[in-house]
Amino acid sequence: MARTAIVTGASRGIGRAIAKRLAADGFAVVVNYAGSSKAAQEVVDEIRRTDGEALALQADIGNPEQVKRMFEKTMEAYGHVDVVVNNAGIMENSLISKGDVASFDRVIATNLRGTFVVLAEAAKHVAEGGRLIGFSSSVLGLNLPTYGAYIASKAGVEGLVRVLANEMRGRKVTVNAVAPGPVATELFLTGKTSEQVDHLSKLNPLERLGQVEDIANVVSFLAGPDGAWVNGQVLRANGGMS
Ligand code: NDP
Repeated sequence: MARTAIVTGASRGIGRAIAKRLAADGFAVVVNYAGSSKAAQEVVDEIRRTDGEALALQADIGNPEQVKRMFEKTMEAYGHVDVVVNNAGIMENSLISKGDVASFDRVIATNLRGTFVVLAEAAKHVAEGGRLIGFSSSVLGLNLPTYGAYIASKAGVEGLVRVLANEMRGRKVTVNAVAPGPVATELFLTGKTSEQVDHLSKLNPLERLGQVEDIANVVSFLAGPDGAWVNGQVLRANGGMS
């Protein structure tokens, strides 16, 4: 039976590319989404058209009940969980001095609480030899103004994956995070002028914006046989941006 991967936030952007890549790698893929059911079903249809196996499952990753149900439905459908990629995330920009606590809470609820909830459930269900992959961001290294809540949430993710890698001792399960640099998705492009996009794209010496496939390739490596010895790491996939 095919190995099974759950990819959160797979209705668009990086998650969609990861779902398609893992399906091409031979995984049965759970395409998770929070609200975009039509887009998620389109990803499933696309995978099935290329003879892959996929299933769309709704769950807000910050909601423990919904996440629990998603894992239960995955077990019912496929019998095991081998890879969990917690890619879902949101970004909001606000100066810390504005004190926008509501925005801070939203970002933390999805990016940090969501990662905790998904990793907790993943740790319960993942089969021996499994791979758990969280999502940080290379913006952590830039400390840009207005990224306070986002950077705080992603710094928390990096802590969680390192601790969980140690907690999984004896189960032959690796736990890592990927920290992309700027990637051409809705999350990155929304609200930026073309000058801002151009500036951020050229911060790396390869002088281009990351593409969703650049990140899906890294996840495929971590989820596949060649990634077996990488554990407790944060892989900064950013074209060399520093
Ligand atoms: P997008 O905004 O393009 O896609 C986000 C996806 O996450 C959507 O499928 C969305 O689905 C889903 N999602 C959002 N909130 C939730 C939730 N609470 N529960 C479940 N699903 C949810 O983002 P990207 O593809 O750009 O980002 C993916 C990850 O990569 C994020 O963790 C982001 O922080 C990280 N990242 C992105 C970078 C970039 O430049 N793009 C750079 C560094 C890191 P729905 O519409 O159904 O909510």
